[in-house]
Amino acid sequence: MASQTQPNGLSRAERKALEKAKLVQKETQRNNFKLVGRILKKAECERTEEEHALLKGHEDTVQELSKRQARRNILKRKQEELFDDEEDLRTKVKQLAEAMRQARHVVIYTGAGISTAASIPDYRGPNGVWTQLQKGRAIRYTDLSEAEPTLTHMCIQMLHKVKMVQHVVSQNCDGLHLRSGLPRHALSELHGNMFIEVCVSCSPVREVIRLFDVTERTALHRHATGRRCAHCRGELRDTIVHFGERGTLEQPLNWKGAAKAAEQADLILCLGSSLKVLKKYACLWCMNKTAAKRANLYIVNLQWTPKDDLATLKIHGKCDDVMRLLMKELGVEIPTYNRFEDPIFSSATSLRPDEEDSHSRKTLVPPAAMEVSNSDSTVQADEAGVQGGWFGRGYSKARKKRKTT
Ligand SMILES: [Zn+2]
Repeated sequence: MASQTQPNGLSRAERKALEKAKLVQKETQRNNFKLVGRILKKAECERTEEEHALLKGHEDTVQELSKRQARRNILKRKQEELFDDEEDLRTKVKQLAEAMRQARHVVIYTGAGISTAASIPDYRGPNGVWTQLQKGRAIRYTDLSEAEPTLTHMCIQMLHKVKMVQHVVSQNCDGLHLRSGLPRHALSELHGNMFIEVCVSCSPVREVIRLFDVTERTALHRHATGRRCAHCRGELRDTIVHFGERGTLEQPLNWKGAAKAAEQADLILCLGSSLKVLKKYACLWCMNKTAAKRANLYIVNLQWTPKDDLATLKIHGKCDDVMRLLMKELGVEIPTYNRFEDPIFSSATSLRPDEEDSHSRKTLVPPAAMEVSNSDSTVQADEAGVQGGWFGRGYSKARKKRKTT
Protein backbone atom coordinates (compact mmCIF):
# COMPACT_ATOMS: atom_id res chain seq x y z
CA MET A 1 0.00 0.00 0.00
CA ALA A 2 2.83 2.34 0.96
CA SER A 3 4.35 1.91 -2.47
CA GLN A 4 1.20 3.18 -4.19
CA THR A 5 2.50 5.81 -6.60
CA GLN A 6 0.89 9.26 -6.97
CA PRO A 7 0.64 11.35 -10.15
CA ASN A 8 3.85 13.22 -9.23
CA GLY A 9 5.77 9.95 -9.03
CA LEU A 10 6.18 9.93 -5.21
CA SER A 11 4.68 7.41 -2.84
CA ARG A 12 2.54 8.64 0.03
CA ALA A 13 5.32 7.90 2.53
CA GLU A 14 7.85 9.75 0.43
CA ARG A 15 5.56 12.75 0.15
CA LYS A 16 5.07 12.81 3.89
CA ALA A 17 8.80 12.60 4.52
CA LEU A 18 9.35 15.45 2.10
CA GLU A 19 6.79 17.63 3.84
CA LYS A 20 8.36 16.90 7.19
CA ALA A 21 11.80 17.76 5.89
CA LYS A 22 10.46 21.05 4.57
CA LEU A 23 8.97 21.89 7.97
CA VAL A 24 12.22 21.08 9.74
CA GLN A 25 14.12 23.23 7.26
CA LYS A 26 11.78 26.15 7.82
CA GLU A 27 12.12 25.84 11.57
CA THR A 28 15.92 25.70 11.33
CA GLN A 29 15.90 28.75 9.09
CA ARG A 30 13.72 30.66 11.53
CA ASN A 31 16.08 29.83 14.37
CA ASN A 32 19.09 30.85 12.30
CA PHE A 33 17.48 34.21 11.51
CA LYS A 34 16.82 34.79 15.20
CA LEU A 35 20.31 33.80 16.21
CA VAL A 36 22.10 35.77 13.49
CA GLY A 37 19.80 38.75 14.04
CA ARG A 38 20.69 38.82 17.71
CA ILE A 39 24.42 38.73 16.96
CA LEU A 40 24.16 41.44 14.31
CA LYS A 41 22.57 43.76 16.82
CA LYS A 42 25.75 43.67 18.89
CA ALA A 43 28.67 45.95 18.03
CA GLU A 44 31.38 44.05 16.15
CA CYS A 45 33.90 44.37 18.99
CA GLU A 46 31.45 42.85 21.43
CA ARG A 47 30.93 39.65 19.46
CA THR A 48 32.66 36.49 20.75
CA GLU A 49 34.87 34.26 18.59
CA GLU A 50 32.10 31.73 18.49
CA GLU A 51 29.62 34.34 17.24
CA HIS A 52 32.00 35.52 14.54
CA ALA A 53 32.33 31.93 13.37
CA LEU A 54 28.58 31.51 13.38
CA LEU A 55 28.12 34.57 11.17
CA LYS A 56 30.71 33.21 8.75
CA GLY A 57 28.83 29.93 8.61
CA HIS A 58 25.53 31.68 7.77
CA GLU A 59 26.50 34.21 5.15
CA ASP A 60 23.21 33.94 3.27
CA THR A 61 21.23 34.73 6.39
CA VAL A 62 23.52 37.67 7.18
CA GLN A 63 22.98 39.04 3.68
CA GLU A 64 19.22 38.64 3.81
CA LEU A 65 19.03 40.37 7.18
CA SER A 66 21.20 43.25 5.96
CA LYS A 67 18.92 43.67 2.96
CA ARG A 68 15.88 43.82 5.22
CA GLN A 69 17.58 46.41 7.42
CA ALA A 70 18.40 48.53 4.38
CA ARG A 71 14.76 48.41 3.28
CA ARG A 72 13.67 49.50 6.74
CA ASN A 73 16.15 52.40 6.64
CA ILE A 74 14.82 53.59 3.29
CA LEU A 75 11.27 53.44 4.60
CA LYS A 76 12.28 55.41 7.65
CA ARG A 77 14.05 58.02 5.54
CA LYS A 78 10.95 58.41 3.37
CA GLN A 79 8.91 59.26 6.43
CA GLU A 80 11.33 61.84 7.75
CA GLU A 81 10.51 65.51 7.37
CA LEU A 82 13.31 67.46 5.72
CA PHE A 83 13.75 71.23 5.69
CA ASP A 84 15.77 73.15 3.10
CA ASP A 85 17.89 75.83 4.75
CA GLU A 86 16.89 79.45 4.28
CA GLU A 87 19.19 80.14 1.38
CA ASP A 88 18.24 76.96 -0.48
CA LEU A 89 14.59 77.78 0.02
CA ARG A 90 15.02 81.27 -1.42
CA THR A 91 16.93 80.01 -4.46
CA LYS A 92 14.41 77.28 -5.13
CA VAL A 93 11.42 79.60 -4.79
CA LYS A 94 13.07 82.03 -7.24
CA GLN A 95 13.34 79.17 -9.69
CA LEU A 96 9.69 78.25 -9.17
CA ALA A 97 8.58 81.88 -9.61
CA GLU A 98 10.48 82.14 -12.87
CA ALA A 99 8.90 78.92 -14.13
CA MET A 100 5.44 80.18 -13.18
CA ARG A 101 5.99 83.42 -15.08
CA GLN A 102 6.97 81.45 -18.17
CA ALA A 103 4.14 78.90 -17.92
CA ARG A 104 0.92 79.16 -19.92
CA HIS A 105 -1.24 76.81 -17.87
CA VAL A 106 -0.51 76.25 -14.19
CA VAL A 107 -2.40 73.68 -12.15
CA ILE A 108 -2.00 73.24 -8.39
CA TYR A 109 -2.53 69.91 -6.60
CA THR A 110 -3.07 70.26 -2.87
CA GLY A 111 -3.05 67.85 0.04
CA ALA A 112 -3.51 67.93 3.79
CA GLY A 113 -0.16 69.71 4.27
CA ILE A 114 -1.70 73.02 3.20
CA SER A 115 -4.28 72.86 5.97
CA THR A 116 -2.06 71.88 8.91
CA ALA A 117 -1.58 75.58 9.68
CA ALA A 118 -5.35 75.64 10.21
CA SER A 119 -4.80 72.85 12.78
CA ILE A 120 -6.39 70.21 10.58
CA PRO A 121 -4.25 67.09 10.95
CA ASP A 122 -2.57 65.76 7.82
CA TYR A 123 -2.47 62.06 6.97
CA ARG A 124 1.09 60.89 6.71
CA GLY A 125 3.06 63.57 8.56
CA PRO A 126 4.61 62.55 11.93
CA ASN A 127 1.38 63.50 13.72
CA GLY A 128 -0.92 62.68 10.83
CA VAL A 129 -4.07 60.61 11.06
CA TRP A 130 -2.62 57.69 9.11
CA THR A 131 0.67 57.70 11.04
CA GLN A 132 -1.16 57.72 14.36
CA LEU A 133 -3.41 54.83 13.28
CA GLN A 134 -0.35 52.86 12.16
CA LYS A 135 1.11 53.29 15.61
CA GLY A 136 -2.13 52.07 17.14
CA ARG A 137 -2.95 55.44 18.68
CA ALA A 138 -6.40 56.90 18.89
CA ILE A 139 -7.23 59.96 16.81
CA ARG A 140 -8.20 63.03 18.67
CA TYR A 141 -11.20 64.64 17.00
CA THR A 142 -10.20 68.16 16.10
CA ASP A 143 -13.14 70.31 15.33
CA LEU A 144 -12.70 70.99 11.65
CA SER A 145 -15.36 73.68 11.71
CA GLU A 146 -12.97 75.88 13.68
CA ALA A 147 -10.56 75.98 10.76
CA GLU A 148 -10.21 78.94 8.42
CA PRO A 149 -8.39 79.18 5.08
CA THR A 150 -4.62 79.39 5.60
CA LEU A 151 -2.17 81.76 4.00
CA THR A 152 -1.57 79.12 1.32
CA HIS A 153 -5.29 78.90 0.50
CA MET A 154 -5.45 82.68 0.21
CA CYS A 155 -2.35 82.82 -2.01
CA ILE A 156 -3.81 80.18 -4.33
CA GLN A 157 -7.08 82.07 -4.56
CA MET A 158 -5.19 85.26 -5.46
CA LEU A 159 -2.95 83.54 -8.01
CA HIS A 160 -6.06 82.26 -9.72
CA LYS A 161 -7.62 85.71 -9.63
CA VAL A 162 -4.58 87.27 -11.34
CA LYS A 163 -4.66 84.40 -13.88
CA MET A 164 -1.33 82.89 -12.88
CA VAL A 165 -3.05 79.65 -11.85
CA GLN A 166 -5.76 78.07 -13.97
CA HIS A 167 -7.07 75.19 -11.89
CA VAL A 168 -6.76 73.63 -8.42
CA VAL A 169 -7.14 69.93 -7.70
CA SER A 170 -7.45 69.08 -4.02
CA GLN A 171 -7.71 65.88 -2.04
CA ASN A 172 -8.80 67.80 1.06
CA CYS A 173 -12.40 67.58 2.23
CA ASP A 174 -12.16 70.57 4.56
CA GLY A 175 -13.82 72.96 2.09
CA LEU A 176 -11.18 75.62 2.72
CA HIS A 177 -10.44 76.29 -0.97
CA LEU A 178 -14.07 77.27 -1.57
CA ARG A 179 -14.12 79.29 1.61
CA SER A 180 -11.04 81.20 0.44
CA GLY A 181 -13.13 82.49 -2.46
CA LEU A 182 -11.69 80.28 -5.19
CA PRO A 183 -14.48 79.90 -7.81
CA ARG A 184 -15.98 76.45 -8.10
CA HIS A 185 -15.28 76.02 -11.81
CA ALA A 186 -11.56 76.36 -11.02
CA LEU A 187 -11.63 73.65 -8.36
CA SER A 188 -11.86 69.86 -8.24
CA GLU A 189 -12.40 68.48 -4.74
CA LEU A 190 -11.59 64.89 -5.65
CA HIS A 191 -12.51 63.46 -2.25
CA GLY A 192 -15.54 65.63 -1.58
CA ASN A 193 -16.39 68.53 0.69
CA MET A 194 -17.50 68.05 4.29
CA PHE A 195 -19.94 70.98 4.15
CA ILE A 196 -21.89 69.76 1.13
CA GLU A 197 -24.70 67.21 1.08
CA VAL A 198 -26.53 66.25 -2.09
CA CYS A 199 -29.79 64.72 -3.29
CA VAL A 200 -29.07 62.29 -6.11
CA SER A 201 -32.79 61.59 -6.61
CA CYS A 202 -33.23 65.12 -7.94
CA SER A 203 -32.15 65.71 -11.52
CA PRO A 204 -29.80 67.43 -11.87
CA VAL A 205 -28.27 66.38 -8.54
CA ARG A 206 -29.28 68.96 -5.95
CA GLU A 207 -26.58 70.37 -3.74
CA VAL A 208 -27.14 71.68 -0.22
CA ILE A 209 -24.37 73.60 1.51
CA ARG A 210 -24.37 73.58 5.31
CA LEU A 211 -22.47 75.51 7.94
CA PHE A 212 -21.46 72.33 9.75
CA ASP A 213 -19.68 69.07 9.01
CA VAL A 214 -22.39 66.92 7.39
CA THR A 215 -20.38 63.69 7.68
CA GLU A 216 -21.08 62.97 11.33
CA ARG A 217 -23.02 59.75 10.63
CA THR A 218 -21.40 58.71 7.39
CA ALA A 219 -18.64 56.19 6.74
CA LEU A 220 -17.23 53.90 4.05
CA HIS A 221 -20.12 52.87 1.76
CA ARG A 222 -22.56 54.58 4.12
CA HIS A 223 -23.26 58.08 2.94
CA ALA A 224 -26.74 59.03 4.14
CA THR A 225 -26.52 62.09 6.38
CA GLY A 226 -29.89 61.49 8.02
CA ARG A 227 -31.55 64.54 6.48
CA ARG A 228 -33.94 64.64 3.53
CA CYS A 229 -34.20 66.69 0.36
CA ALA A 230 -36.60 69.62 0.77
CA HIS A 231 -37.85 69.13 -2.79
CA CYS A 232 -38.33 65.39 -3.30
CA ARG A 233 -37.87 64.05 0.26
CA GLY A 234 -35.10 61.79 -1.04
CA GLU A 235 -32.22 60.91 1.31
CA LEU A 236 -29.43 63.45 1.38
CA ARG A 237 -25.92 62.00 1.20
CA ASP A 238 -22.45 63.39 1.81
CA THR A 239 -19.93 63.90 -0.98
CA ILE A 240 -16.96 62.27 0.72
CA VAL A 241 -14.93 59.65 -1.16
CA HIS A 242 -13.34 57.21 1.28
CA PHE A 243 -10.26 55.06 0.68
CA GLY A 244 -11.38 52.25 -1.58
CA GLU A 245 -14.36 54.11 -3.00
CA ARG A 246 -14.78 55.50 -6.47
CA GLY A 247 -16.17 59.03 -6.54
CA THR A 248 -18.80 59.46 -9.21
CA LEU A 249 -20.48 62.73 -8.21
CA GLU A 250 -19.99 65.43 -10.80
CA GLN A 251 -19.70 68.10 -8.12
CA PRO A 252 -17.81 68.97 -6.01
CA LEU A 253 -15.42 66.30 -7.36
CA ASN A 254 -15.23 67.83 -10.84
CA TRP A 255 -13.10 65.07 -12.35
CA LYS A 256 -13.75 66.50 -15.81
CA GLY A 257 -12.18 69.79 -14.80
CA ALA A 258 -9.22 68.03 -13.19
CA ALA A 259 -8.50 65.84 -16.22
CA LYS A 260 -8.83 68.74 -18.63
CA ALA A 261 -6.54 70.90 -16.50
CA ALA A 262 -3.91 68.15 -16.28
CA GLU A 263 -4.08 67.68 -20.05
CA GLN A 264 -3.51 71.39 -20.68
CA ALA A 265 -1.00 72.00 -17.90
CA ASP A 266 2.59 72.88 -18.65
CA LEU A 267 3.37 73.36 -14.95
CA ILE A 268 1.98 71.36 -12.07
CA LEU A 269 2.69 72.56 -8.55
CA CYS A 270 2.04 70.01 -5.80
CA LEU A 271 1.59 71.50 -2.35
CA GLY A 272 1.59 69.56 0.90
CA SER A 273 0.66 66.14 -0.46
CA SER A 274 2.48 62.85 -0.03
CA LEU A 275 1.05 62.10 -3.51
CA LYS A 276 0.58 58.49 -2.43
CA VAL A 277 -3.10 58.65 -3.30
CA LEU A 278 -2.94 61.21 -6.11
CA LYS A 279 -0.30 59.17 -7.95
CA LYS A 280 -2.93 56.47 -8.52
CA TYR A 281 -5.11 58.82 -10.56
CA ALA A 282 -3.58 58.29 -14.01
CA CYS A 283 -5.36 61.22 -15.67
CA LEU A 284 -3.61 63.70 -13.36
CA TRP A 285 -0.15 62.76 -14.61
CA CYS A 286 -0.54 62.20 -18.38
CA MET A 287 2.07 59.45 -18.27
CA ASN A 288 0.97 58.43 -21.77
CA LYS A 289 2.68 61.57 -23.07
CA THR A 290 6.43 61.52 -23.63
CA ALA A 291 8.44 63.07 -20.79
CA ALA A 292 9.22 66.13 -22.95
CA LYS A 293 5.51 66.82 -23.52
CA ARG A 294 4.48 66.35 -19.90
CA ALA A 295 3.99 69.31 -17.55
CA ASN A 296 6.98 70.33 -15.45
CA LEU A 297 6.46 69.12 -11.94
CA TYR A 298 7.24 71.24 -8.85
CA ILE A 299 6.73 69.61 -5.47
CA VAL A 300 6.55 71.34 -2.11
CA ASN A 301 6.46 68.75 0.65
CA LEU A 302 8.53 67.99 3.74
CA GLN A 303 8.52 64.24 3.19
CA TRP A 304 9.54 62.07 0.27
CA THR A 305 6.92 61.58 -2.46
CA PRO A 306 6.73 58.86 -5.14
CA LYS A 307 6.93 61.60 -7.80
CA ASP A 308 10.17 63.17 -6.51
CA ASP A 309 12.25 61.52 -9.24
CA LEU A 310 10.04 63.03 -11.94
CA ALA A 311 10.05 66.51 -10.43
CA THR A 312 11.87 69.44 -11.99
CA LEU A 313 12.29 70.76 -8.46
CA LYS A 314 11.52 69.46 -4.98
CA ILE A 315 11.17 72.04 -2.24
CA HIS A 316 11.35 70.89 1.38
CA GLY A 317 9.51 73.62 3.20
CA LYS A 318 6.24 74.40 4.91
CA CYS A 319 3.62 75.46 2.38
CA ASP A 320 2.91 78.80 4.07
CA ASP A 321 6.63 79.68 4.15
CA VAL A 322 7.10 78.76 0.50
CA MET A 323 3.98 80.60 -0.64
CA ARG A 324 4.91 83.74 1.29
CA LEU A 325 8.27 83.84 -0.50
CA LEU A 326 6.70 82.95 -3.84
CA MET A 327 4.14 85.77 -3.70
CA LYS A 328 6.88 88.25 -2.86
CA GLU A 329 8.94 86.97 -5.76
CA LEU A 330 5.95 87.24 -8.12
CA GLY A 331 5.01 90.66 -6.78
CA VAL A 332 1.47 89.55 -5.95
CA GLU A 333 -0.20 90.70 -2.78
CA ILE A 334 -1.31 88.10 -0.22
CA PRO A 335 -4.96 88.64 0.70
CA THR A 336 -6.04 88.00 4.27
CA TYR A 337 -9.03 85.79 4.93
CA ASN A 338 -12.14 87.83 5.59
CA ARG A 339 -15.13 86.09 7.10
CA PHE A 340 -17.45 88.62 5.49
CA GLU A 341 -16.31 87.49 2.06
CA ASP A 342 -16.40 83.77 2.85
CA PRO A 343 -18.93 82.47 0.29
CA ILE A 344 -20.07 79.63 2.52
CA PHE A 345 -22.17 82.02 4.59
CA SER A 346 -24.15 83.33 1.63
CA SER A 347 -24.56 79.97 -0.07
CA ALA A 348 -25.50 77.80 2.92
CA THR A 349 -29.03 76.49 3.42
CA SER A 350 -30.50 76.72 6.90
CA LEU A 351 -31.94 73.68 8.65
CA ARG A 352 -35.72 73.39 8.85
CA PRO A 353 -37.07 73.49 12.40
CA ASP A 354 -37.58 69.70 12.43
CA GLU A 355 -33.96 69.18 11.36
CA GLU A 356 -32.33 71.25 14.01
CA ASP A 357 -31.38 68.26 16.12
CA SER A 358 -30.10 66.30 13.14
CA HIS A 359 -26.44 66.91 13.98
CA SER A 360 -24.22 67.70 16.93
CA ARG A 361 -21.25 69.25 15.16
CA LYS A 362 -20.23 72.80 15.80
CA THR A 363 -21.83 75.29 13.40
CA LEU A 364 -19.76 77.98 11.70
CA VAL A 365 -20.64 81.33 13.15
CA PRO A 366 -21.64 83.77 10.40
CA PRO A 367 -19.72 87.05 10.47
CA ALA A 368 -22.89 89.03 11.10
CA ALA A 369 -23.50 87.06 14.27
CA MET A 370 -19.92 87.55 15.35
CA GLU A 371 -20.18 91.28 14.90
CA VAL A 372 -23.51 91.55 16.60
CA SER A 373 -22.47 89.51 19.58
CA ASN A 374 -20.53 92.61 20.57
CA SER A 375 -23.59 94.81 20.21
CA ASP A 376 -26.92 94.65 22.01
CA SER A 377 -29.20 95.65 19.16
CA THR A 378 -31.20 92.79 17.63
CA VAL A 379 -32.48 95.01 14.84
CA GLN A 380 -28.93 95.57 13.71
CA ALA A 381 -28.43 91.84 13.70
CA ASP A 382 -31.14 91.34 11.11
CA GLU A 383 -29.84 94.18 8.99
CA ALA A 384 -26.28 92.89 9.10
CA GLY A 385 -27.40 89.44 8.03
CA VAL A 386 -29.25 90.46 4.90
CA GLN A 387 -27.34 88.53 2.26
CA GLY A 388 -28.12 84.94 3.04
CA GLY A 389 -31.27 82.93 3.42
CA TRP A 390 -29.64 81.42 6.43
CA PHE A 391 -28.44 83.93 8.84
CA GLY A 392 -31.34 86.28 9.35
CA ARG A 393 -33.62 83.56 10.68
CA GLY A 394 -31.09 81.00 11.76
CA TYR A 395 -28.99 83.40 13.70
CA SER A 396 -31.79 85.08 15.63
CA LYS A 397 -33.03 81.65 16.67
CA ALA A 398 -29.59 80.75 17.92
CA ARG A 399 -29.40 83.97 19.85
CA LYS A 400 -32.80 83.57 21.47
CA LYS A 401 -31.76 80.10 22.59
CA ARG A 402 -28.52 81.37 24.02
CA LYS A 403 -30.36 84.09 25.95
CA THR A 404 -32.67 81.62 27.64
CA THR A 405 -29.88 79.32 28.77
ZN1 LIG B 1 -34.25 65.69 -4.13
